[in-house]
Amino acid sequence: MDTNTLFTMALGLQAPWEVKNLQFNEEAKRLDIAIDFTRGADFPCPVCGQPAKVHDTEEKTWRHLDFFQHSAYLTARVPRCKCDVDGVKQVQVPWARPGSGFTLLFEALVMALVKVMPVAVVARLVKETDTRIWRLAHHHVDEALAKVDMSEVTRIGIDETAAKRGQNYITLVMDMVAKKLLFGVEGRSHATLAAFKADFLAHKGDPAKIEEVCLDMSPSFIKGLRVHFPKAHLTFDRFHVMQMINKAVDEVRRGEAKDRPELKKTRYIWLKNASNLKANQVARLQELRDANLLTAEAYRMKLTLQDFYEQANPMAAGMFLKEWITMVRESGLSPMAKAAETLQEHLAGVLRWFKSGLANGLLEGINSLLQAAKSKARGYRSIRNLITMAYLIAGKLDFNLAPAM
Ligand SMILES: [Zn+2]
Repeated sequence: MDTNTLFTMALGLQAPWEVKNLQFNEEAKRLDIAIDFTRGADFPCPVCGQPAKVHDTEEKTWRHLDFFQHSAYLTARVPRCKCDVDGVKQVQVPWARPGSGFTLLFEALVMALVKVMPVAVVARLVKETDTRIWRLAHHHVDEALAKVDMSEVTRIGIDETAAKRGQNYITLVMDMVAKKLLFGVEGRSHATLAAFKADFLAHKGDPAKIEEVCLDMSPSFIKGLRVHFPKAHLTFDRFHVMQMINKAVDEVRRGEAKDRPELKKTRYIWLKNASNLKANQVARLQELRDANLLTAEAYRMKLTLQDFYEQANPMAAGMFLKEWITMVRESGLSPMAKAAETLQEHLAGVLRWFKSGLANGLLEGINSLLQAAKSKARGYRSIRNLITMAYLIAGKLDFNLAPAM
């Protein structure tokens, strides 16, 4: 078997395509594989599929998978054929998609890599610019997204994450049943929900089928949901409820620390669950709790609210929460009373947890993946890149990258 035949077979080329020449440049660490079609061959018209004669050709080159440690490139004359019905059309080659400078196998490799490592690292590994790698990722993510079917989606979770040092935000919408990212967009206003609805409809989603939504108590999300998904029951995420209470406890602490210096640098101790504290921190917490401190009182309120989530049924939970709110409002600790007020205003959604069982823990997990991706991919440059990364990490997308050759 001669080497041209060997490479024709290794590349999986089918007639009329075959390898005509190989050129190896040791100094440039580069293998060039020249492919050509049999003289006089017909090609199927890309529009109607009828055999058509070659009209003219244009030479193109594609980066292929490395040949051992050497970069490999395919070069071929790509024909335009002339169909009696459709006129002159460019023939599609089986090893690359139109407009790409990479073969499908190379693209498949890159897509596998960008899922697990920062784009900048992938770019360095395959010796391409990160701009080209991002362009490739956008293409395949967009193409895969276009095929997503949202007709069965009934439960969603909505959360926001900071992009670029908190200057901008992106909002992520998850399918809480399939546990995947449905939609990512810049912003976090009620208009964000309008954008999601439009995308949802475009993917066969039925807004009337959305029964449950999990979110934080953000007024703009609540407003957007009332307008665009009026049938949905809202569950205010447990994580965010406790985050709000933790903030209130810390506000009490900071206010009190002016007179009680022993409270300085104790934020973490009050914030974390006692089970996550080290032995010396537990001892310190006990000491502070025994002292006559408003912060300790606020902390007790927080612990009591944690018990709320342990209630056996919605009825008991409702009574428990109402009692807690009354107790905290009368405490005279204004940051805590304010938080209680907020819970009072969002009572139905806080209690809904006992029916829906929804919590955005999944989204928080994605958030931490995203934060990790952000810090690893220093300079992801644009919000669009960040959203593409989110889809890559959490979209469970189906990339159609099996080359036809
Ligand atoms: Zn045709």
